[in-house]
Amino acid sequence: MLPKKTIALDLDSVLADVMLIWVEEYNIVFHANIRKKDIFDWHIHNVLPISKNQISELFISVWKNRWRDIPPTSNDVSKVINGLMEQGFRISIITKRERVTMPFVSYWLDLHKISFNDIIFIFDDAPKSCFPFFLLVDDSPINAKEIMFPKRIVVFDQPWNRGLESFPRIMSLNQLFSLL
Ligand SMILES: [Mg+2]
Repeated sequence: MLPKKTIALDLDSVLADVMLIWVEEYNIVFHANIRKKDIFDWHIHNVLPISKNQISELFISVWKNRWRDIPPTSNDVSKVINGLMEQGFRISIITKRERVTMPFVSYWLDLHKISFNDIIFIFDDAPKSCFPFFLLVDDSPINAKEIMFPKRIVVFDQPWNRGLESFPRIMSLNQLFSLL
């Protein structure tokens, strides 16, 4: 039996639209009025008057305290993933994050009935490119640039990655079907 081809999916801002809630929390804490679309740079500290530490703390707090409010990037995410599995692909969720957020990620995946074959939590600086997959869907410009042939990258459209012009891009997960 041939091994099934693995599609790797990033979690934050590919499956989970976490930055919608992150900006809500940012606005509360910093008495601001920004929207997700205002974050046009991957390095948030280049856009907002906030330190890298504060960015990370806010991110952790969103996952710990508001994970139930984080919407999927579209309401068919679970259906799309089931469809990919029915087509014979393995689904690997690969997510770089602070360990303290790990349980809330699994609660969130259960809440939204998202199936997957495995999940990789990266706690160090290991690049995603060293994990086994043939195609990665990610919103990070840094991860996108690290993926080398024969591996493939599909950029998930977000305001902070619009500068990446030479990569295949999807606006929602169901657009992946047309690229396989
Ligand atoms: Mg991401």
